Formats: sequence, structure tokens, C-alpha cells
Amino acid sequence: MSTGLSMTAPDRLEPIRRFVNTLDMEAGTDALQDAAGLRGWLNAAGLRPDRPVSDDELRRARELREALRTAASANHNKAALPPATVAVLDDVAKRAGISLSFTSGREWRLTAQADGVDGALGELVLRVVESMTAGTWPRLKVCAGDACRWAFYDSSRAGTGKWCSMKLCGNRAKQEAWRNRRRTTG
Ligand SMILES: [Zn+2]
Repeated sequence: MSTGLSMTAPDRLEPIRRFVNTLDMEAGTDALQDAAGLRGWLNAAGLRPDRPVSDDELRRARELREALRTAASANHNKAALPPATVAVLDDVAKRAGISLSFTSGREWRLTAQADGVDGALGELVLRVVESMTAGTWPRLKVCAGDACRWAFYDSSRAGTGKWCSMKLCGNRAKQEAWRNRRRTTG
């Protein structure tokens, strides 16, 4: 669902949330439907691929999107990531040629060396790394509603949010549970 309530993530993590939500399951729309769509999205996000996008790159971008959705979903109960998900993230990092360098200011920096889509997708996984380091990553989640799966930032105090919106998906789940209870008891 896409009512865009107060579910936005901290600045550097927000593009990841938006990337996952390029697929809107409820509306049945996909901003990454074709190569032009991916290029447009990356440009708008300031991750300019600077050249035409191939079908192979489109496929990898969509794979990354689902890997991130799975990873965010695992944040609900700190579940282990499936090996296939880890493999996709690793592959993106490898193709992006991520390198570590140190600065004179006694800090370090990770950068994606590759250009084009590989570099742009690398920039996205670097945002995940950054978020993991900052401790905000565990709060990026996807709605527990099977038909929804919308990515949201869980800003609840306890960090136990399950739904993109309590009003919509949360209530829908409660009603279903209530109907099921009534069916089994009555
Ligand atoms: Zn939802």
C-alpha cells in the first residue's frame, strides 16, 4: 500500500525503502518493469547509471530488490537470511567493485568503483552497510500482510511493528483472525 504515512526511513536508508517499494503489490504496479523504468528510477534517486540499461542489469536490479525485501522481512524476528539472498547481495557488492580506503582524518570509506548500473546497485548495498553500522537497519521491515509486503521504517518505541499501517493491514489481519476464531468456535 502506498499512503506514505510516517513510515519513512532515515535519509541514507530511505532510498532502500523506496527501491523495495518500486513494486507495489496492492496496486499491481512496478516502476522497474523495463530497462527505461530502472534508468529513470536510478536517475531520480541521484544514482545516475549514465548509460542505457541492459536487460541483464534490469534482471539483477530486480533480484536485488527481492533480496532486500527478504532481508528486511527477516528483521521482524532476526531470522537468518536465506543463502540465495546472501548470494545476491554478495554478487552486487562484487560487481560494484567495492573498495575500502582510509582517510587522513582517521576514518574509513567504502566506495563502489564500477560505473553504470553495477555501481548504482553497489551504492544501494553500501547504504545497507551504512545502516547496519548506524544500527538503523533492524528497523527496516516489510509489511507482514502477504498481499502487501510494503517496506516501512518501524519507528515504534519497542521496534516490534509488523504492519505498514495499523489502520489498513493491521486491522485487516485482526479481522481475519477474528473471523477465523469465530469459524472455529461457532
Ligand atoms: Zn501492509
